[in-house]
Amino acid sequence: MLTGSKLRMTKQRQLILEELSKVTSHPTADDMYQVLRKKMPRISLGTVYRNLEILYENGIIQKLDVGGTQKRFDANIIPHYHIRCTICGRVADIHIEPHMELETEAKKVTDFDIIQHRVEFLGICPQCKKRQS
Ligand code: ZN
Ligand code: MN
Repeated sequence: MLTGSKLRMTKQRQLILEELSKVTSHPTADDMYQVLRKKMPRISLGTVYRNLEILYENGIIQKLDVGGTQKRFDANIIPHYHIRCTICGRVADIHIEPHMELETEAKKVTDFDIIQHRVEFLGICPQCKKRQS
C-alpha cells in the first residue's frame, strides 16, 4: 500500500491507518478520535484530523464526498459506491461494480475531460427501519 510513497509513517499515523483499515463504517475524524484515544490517551482530535487529511492527500485512504456535515474516511481506495441513511447518516458500501458506461455516455454529451464519477445511493438503514416500525 505504501510502496513508492515518500510519506513518513509516524507511530500515530500508522495507528490511525491501522484502526481505519479495521472498520467498514466510514468513520469521521471524531469517530476515529474516540477509538484512538483509548489506545493513545494523549492523542488530540486535531492530530487525528490532520493525519487523516495527510493520508488522504497521499492517496493512502479515501475521503468520502457524501452528504452530511462531517467528512468521512475509508481505507478502501478501490473505486466503489456508497449508500447513506437519510435518517442517521450511516454510510455503507454498495457491492456492485462501478458502471463505467456512465462515463462513456457522459463523454458523448460534454466537452469536459471526465476524470471519474461518483454515485451516492440514499436510503434508510436497517436500524432506522426497525425504529420506524
Ligand atoms: Zn439509519
Ligand atoms: Mn467504502
